[in-house]
Amino acid sequence: MESTVAKKLESLLKLQELDSKSDELKKVRGALPEEVGDLEDEIAGYETRMSKFTQELEDLEKEIDNNKNAIKDSEKLIQKYTDQQMNVRNNREYDAISKEMELQQLEIQISEKRIKESYVKIEGKKEEIAATEEIMNERNRDLDSKKKELDTIVSESEEEEQKIANAREKASKNIEDRLLNSYNKIRDNARNGLAVVSVKRGACGGCFNIVPPQRQADIREKKKIIVCEHCGRILADVDLESMVEEKKPKRTRKAK
Ligand SMILES: [Zn+2]
Repeated sequence: MESTVAKKLESLLKLQELDSKSDELKKVRGALPEEVGDLEDEIAGYETRMSKFTQELEDLEKEIDNNKNAIKDSEKLIQKYTDQQMNVRNNREYDAISKEMELQQLEIQISEKRIKESYVKIEGKKEEIAATEEIMNERNRDLDSKKKELDTIVSESEEEEQKIANAREKASKNIEDRLLNSYNKIRDNARNGLAVVSVKRGACGGCFNIVPPQRQADIREKKKIIVCEHCGRILADVDLESMVEEKKPKRTRKAK
């Protein structure tokens, strides 16, 4: 059986009421969901930075090890040259070995300088890590409290939202898809989320523009779905005050 227009309008009004209630529930959450998301992004950024720092620390430690090994190698060579110098046949050989030893001494000095530099860099990295950790901890505490707050709000409204969702499904059944789609479209475009309104005090309940009396009469008949010619919202009903105001001019005309 096809729903009558009156029944459809009734369902549309019900749908609007439920959606407005759901909007209110979401409004309570305010900027919290966005703030939680921003904090999570920020913390992820710090985590990336931290793993980069850790990698850089490892690289520096490795560099120190390499330089320490190079020093050991040079020392071994120097030891070997010292032994060789004991058995040289002439001054020229002695001088040549001395040169090699000097070269290795120089290598050791370079390695030692590099080790010192690496230690300085490590100190710097550790300071950066500590500073980043401090900010991260602060943000994490912030995130925890915001998440808890949001969870509380969400769990408080969960039951009500489920009820709204169920009622919404029921109300939607009386409305054909095409009408439901335009309802959703109007709602998306409306700043206050209102797609279905009543005529109140002779004006559209959505945009407050005057609705002419003949149009009000058509709306009251509920023979077809009528939209506001200014804002496109569905005009589902006319309130009593509009009807009273409509009669007023007649009375004044009679009095003249
Ligand atoms: Zn309007």
